[in-house]
Amino acid sequence: MLQVTQARERLLKHFHPGQTETVTLIDAAGRVLADTVSAENDSPPFSHSSMDGVAVRFDDLQRGAGLPISLRVIGKIAAGENSTLRLNPGESALIMTGAQLPAGADTVIRVEDTNLDFSAENKPGEVEIRTEVSRGENIRVQGENYQVGKVVFSPGHKVRPQDVGMMAMLGKSVIPVYKRPVVGIFATGDELVEPGNPLQTGQIWNSNSSMIGALVEDCGGTVVDLGIVRDTLDGVHSAFDTLIARSVDLILTSGGVSMGMHDYIRRIIEKYGEINFWKVNMRPGKPLAFGHYRDVPFIGLPGNPVSSFMGAQIFVCPAIHKMSGRSWSEPMLFKARLDTSITSDGRESYIPGWHQLDGEGMVVAPVGNQSSGNLFALVQGNCLIKIAPGVQSLKQDSIVEIWKFT
Ligand code: AMP
Ligand code: MG
Repeated sequence: MLQVTQARERLLKHFHPGQTETVTLIDAAGRVLADTVSAENDSPPFSHSSMDGVAVRFDDLQRGAGLPISLRVIGKIAAGENSTLRLNPGESALIMTGAQLPAGADTVIRVEDTNLDFSAENKPGEVEIRTEVSRGENIRVQGENYQVGKVVFSPGHKVRPQDVGMMAMLGKSVIPVYKRPVVGIFATGDELVEPGNPLQTGQIWNSNSSMIGALVEDCGGTVVDLGIVRDTLDGVHSAFDTLIARSVDLILTSGGVSMGMHDYIRRIIEKYGEINFWKVNMRPGKPLAFGHYRDVPFIGLPGNPVSSFMGAQIFVCPAIHKMSGRSWSEPMLFKARLDTSITSDGRESYIPGWHQLDGEGMVVAPVGNQSSGNLFALVQGNCLIKIAPGVQSLKQDSIVEIWKFT
């Protein structure tokens, strides 16, 4: 049977970055950049004051008379003003935060360090400097953050809120991004009922469609959800065709991939497409199929909700990352000390756990019962405890890797 890493490697070979589009800044967060973004200006674009105060020539403060020093005030510069003021020796200008530095000035004295009060609207003829400063103080020099031509973003970068601000600072109103992959989903099972409807004996609510849909969106895809499909060969077959007609980039199914009499997914894929693999050496989530229906990639997730969730985390998210132009990397795992002994069965295993800090560092314990049907354990937990393939048991205090929920 395929190990998780082998299976994922095999699967990812079939996914490639898709088409691109442009979006406005307001829609950019969470999207993946499709092009390099470089600076067309220096930052800051002009030298300016970082304080409300008085622009001076530093050399004027060095005349040896000691403090205070008096300077003539020749004008005022507000933020946004295109001032032509020039300071000659002995001259100064009132300057507001963000305003362009006048020619000849090289230092700004904060208003608090002078005799002036900017809230009293007068036009002082002179200013008294009362504090010692150093050359260049309270000035942001043109290009001190980065210079024109600087590569600020590279393709494949997922846009965060601070990046949106940065794009605006770079003068971009629209940015090129990869289109979100369109992911078609349906859940199979005669026992399933959509939440919001009453249950008869023997029925359960469909939890997988909404959960997998949420995960797909979280990873950068958009969802076409066909809801519940009954366990009939025709029903399942026409659901696949409906998704093909909707031009999806990936088909996800839940349930119907194991050995039951009514598990039709595999039979249909074998007939109209091809199966690449349909079992992975993991727990939960062993009955997981990958292949193509006609030419569209297909991942058959198990019906058990915890298995379905893990299959989506481990295989679907990386596939969506790749289709949306991002490079996929292993999730960041942290080390923790086991609070109790645990047994495993040699498969790569993921156990819902609770991690916290104690006096000796990070400690983790399993939560809930480990049935692949018990979604509640995933909800109670704040991480997954990863058990490597081949491991049968771990003693209390063993060091394990944990995958924290975000
Ligand atoms: P299957 O993979 O179809 O054999 O289903 C395995 C188990 O998961 C069965 O107990 C199903 O009732 C349950 N199950 C299947 N699909 C869903 C679903 N969409 N939501 C919740 N449980 C499901
Ligand atoms: Mg079923």
